Amino acid sequence: MNAIATTTDVLIIGAGPTGLTLACELARRGVGFRLLERSATPSTASRAKTIQPRTLEVADDLGIVDRVLAQGKVNIPTRRYDHARVISEAVELADGTPTPEAPYPPVWLSQPKFERILRDRLAELGGTIHWGSEVTGLQHDGDTVTATVETATGSHTVRARYVVGADGGRSTVRALAGIELRGVSLTDQRWHLGDVRVTGLSRDCQHLWTSKEDGLLSLFPLPGTDLWQFQASIPTDEAEPEAPSLELFRRIFAARAAVPGVGIQDAEWLSLYRINVVLADHYRTGRILLAGDAAHIHSPAGGQGMNTGIQDAYNLGWKLAALLDGADPALLDTYEHERRPVARAVLDDSTARLGQVMRATSANDGTSAQRGLTDEHTTGLRVAYHDSALTHGPGAGGRAPDAPCTDADTGRPVRLFDLQRGPHWTLLSFGTAAVPQTPSGLRTFRVTTDPDATGPATVIDTDGHAHHAYQSTGDELVLIRPDGYIAARRPAADLPAVLALFSTNGL
Ligand SMILES: Cc1cc2nc3c(=O)[nH]c(=O)nc-3n(C[C@H](O)[C@H](O)[C@H](O)COP(=O)(O)OP(=O)(O)OC[C@H]3O[C@@H](n4cnc5c(N)ncnc54)[C@H](O)[C@@H]3O)c2cc1C
Repeated sequence: MNAIATTTDVLIIGAGPTGLTLACELARRGVGFRLLERSATPSTASRAKTIQPRTLEVADDLGIVDRVLAQGKVNIPTRRYDHARVISEAVELADGTPTPEAPYPPVWLSQPKFERILRDRLAELGGTIHWGSEVTGLQHDGDTVTATVETATGSHTVRARYVVGADGGRSTVRALAGIELRGVSLTDQRWHLGDVRVTGLSRDCQHLWTSKEDGLLSLFPLPGTDLWQFQASIPTDEAEPEAPSLELFRRIFAARAAVPGVGIQDAEWLSLYRINVVLADHYRTGRILLAGDAAHIHSPAGGQGMNTGIQDAYNLGWKLAALLDGADPALLDTYEHERRPVARAVLDDSTARLGQVMRATSANDGTSAQRGLTDEHTTGLRVAYHDSALTHGPGAGGRAPDAPCTDADTGRPVRLFDLQRGPHWTLLSFGTAAVPQTPSGLRTFRVTTDPDATGPATVIDTDGHAHHAYQSTGDELVLIRPDGYIAARRPAADLPAVLALFSTNGL
């Protein structure tokens, strides 16, 4: 083995959506990190395909939402069949109408496309991915952790102040850190999943066959590709499912769908997917942390797996950066405290949704099999950290909503999200008080309904959306964390207390 080759502040293990989001978060804050990925090249298998509204808000903050919206699709309708006969066609999934407070609908885009956007952003931010680098050992030594890394050129070591295992469901980091994973395998839930090319089907909709006898078959057109995601439930009485193959997928299609003139041409990815519902006991031991599938795995029903991992990284990134910059070490405890209950809720919710799909399928009720798969609970917009140590006072802990306003100086439209975009904290001063002086790292803006207001850092709430979204009536300060959650709401006169909260946690 070589001598110590590299030292860094944060070692990120795994360049899936979770690791890539964390890397972007650290890169834009100028934090030193090393991102290691076992595979030699990116995965091309579709897997997750729903980008939920809250993840689009993260993408907005990272400066990539336009690319996601340009490449993805919204409101893809579902065409339901009884074998070759079309029964109905309607938008049954992810019908999210944007509002001034929540500007993004759920977007359909496959995981490799989203990962590609994250990788491009990371490169723009100056970050690098070390492909073909597998972590096989971790050793805590006082204030650092030393990782053993296997590459094509041999064994190396990397010493880091913090290590984040974003290395997926079979996490090596989790095992090396001795963190237990608890939960169940849904042994009757097995699916054939793959990416195939199909001729003869319209790409304007998802095609869905449900029947009591055969179960569920779905063909979903993956935006920006010529591929379809193939999903077929495996009958519960099939003791050991057949290994996935193109020939098997064709046979399933012929038995359950058999639409004349439609055929599966070839396949890019074929898999057999067993559903586990498991959660890590802890998200942290010492200087080693877990995020994404390494910490929680669940059913894909509701499309929250990838999204939950991205939100983990978004929660963790600014905290690691603040800690490395001298913030109170207790800040890091809030990561598990805030995020583990979110994963617990997603596990329960996605299991319930899967049960509903399967019950509706066996009752030959194709409409219910789809409806309710996505709703306001799956958007991620309701996640809140009310009992966090970072939440102060009534009305705090929830997501900081967006609202369209007007820039008082330029007269141009400006959104509250425009003010929050970037690695800083944000202080919104609602009402008549002048914009207070605040330290760097905290950007302050006055939000007023006075149409004649002028001055820098002042926005006019032209249509009252901001006051409505924040339910603000008097002179009030709203302190917003870098990840877009409200840390405190206080009367304008309490500015010193608000600044004290910021300097404990923000610096
Ligand atoms: C078959 C399948 C179907 C799915 N369908 C859906 C769906 O429909 N909807 C949905 O929301 N979610 C779905 N998911 C889940 C979704 O893909 C995951 O939630 C998401 O990929 C989690 O991202 P992650 O970055 O945490 O982990 P991963 O995407 O698993 O990334 C982990 C990365 O770490 C790397 N790695 C692992 N070990 C090491 C090591 N020792 N050293 C270095 N690198 C390492 C891996 O190569 C991998 O690139 C599906 C998953 C699978 C497997």
